[in-house]
Order: sequence, then structure tokens, then C-alpha cells
Amino acid sequence: MAYYGQQQQGYQGNPQQASPGVDPNFLWGVFQRIDKDRSGEISASELQQALSNGSWTPFNPETVRLMIGMFDRDNSGSINFQEFSSLWKYVTDWQNTFRSYDRDNSGSIDRNELKNALTSFGYRLSDKFYEILIRKFDRQGRGTVAFDDFIQCCVVLQTLTNAFRFYDTDQDGWIQIGYEQFLMLVFNLRS
Ligand code: CA
Ligand code: CA
Ligand code: CA
Repeated sequence: MAYYGQQQQGYQGNPQQASPGVDPNFLWGVFQRIDKDRSGEISASELQQALSNGSWTPFNPETVRLMIGMFDRDNSGSINFQEFSSLWKYVTDWQNTFRSYDRDNSGSIDRNELKNALTSFGYRLSDKFYEILIRKFDRQGRGTVAFDDFIQCCVVLQTLTNAFRFYDTDQDGWIQIGYEQFLMLVFNLRS
């Protein structure tokens, strides 16, 4: 098995897929509650206010930006009702994932829980790297990772892994790239 697995299941939201089984009337109610200024579109700040990381701190603005970027199909910078059903499914999937790996129900993911989660997603990472991950994504400085930062952590890891894997054609966990290729790799991550 490759050290980063064949399939990563942490990212379960498929932007191409509408949410089956969710009552559109229910979704419309949720949408209207989030759309505080009744503009018919959910802005980044409206979304940020609607999302909770389980504490009284504001939801990670980077995660909000990432979600809007992922589901804003018409590039309006905000989320209309059509785009919202996919976003809703994505958030719900992440909530379920988060809850299932928060074994002690503490509302946050500690190092062991993170290791269990990422290992089951197919990653093979050292304990030292988990220390680094926790330090980087623990915005609240509590030694654990909250819901918003957990999403951020998984998505960043996946984006970096995909970029690496693009060059790692034989999937042995090693790549050899030139200086400019490296720069392109890094620059392309933020497009
Ligand atoms: Ca609005
Ligand atoms: Ca939009
Ligand atoms: Ca926990």
C-alpha cells in the first residue's frame, strides 16, 4: 500500500452531487436563516456566523473561504440556493466524520484521534509529523484541533498530497523535481 493510500475518504463532499434525501423545504428554511440580509445569496460572513466550531471563537475564515471557493460554481463570490445544497451536504459529511473520530466526545480532535482519522483515510504519517500537524492547525492553542481546523487540516493535506502524487507517477513516495517545477507546484496550490 502506498503511504498515502489509494483513496482518501476524509473528503466526502462531491461538489458535482446534489444532496439526495434532504427535503428541499428544510434546506430552504436553513438557507433563509443563514441569509441574514435576505440578499438571496450567502456571503462569507453570513456563512462564518452560521458555522460553529464547538466553541465561542469565530469559525476559521480560511475554512469558510475554502468552502465558498469549492461550491461557488458561478463565481459570484457567494452561495446561492442551488450551490447551497452541495455545501450543506459537505458540511454535514464533515460533521459526521468529525464526530465519529472524536472518540471521547470532547468536541475536539486530539493527536491520537487525528492519527486514527488520517490513518483510516489512507495516510501513513510519523508521530513527529502529527506533532507538527497539531501545532499548525491548533488555532486555539489547546493542543487539540477544533471542527473548523480539522476540515482545514484534512483539505490542505489532501491538496498537498494530490500535488505531490501528480509527480510521483510510480507512487513510491519519492519525487524528483526541478526548481521551477517546485515553484509551479507551490503556486498552483493557491489558485
Ligand atoms: Ca446574504
Ligand atoms: Ca455563487
Ligand atoms: Ca476528542
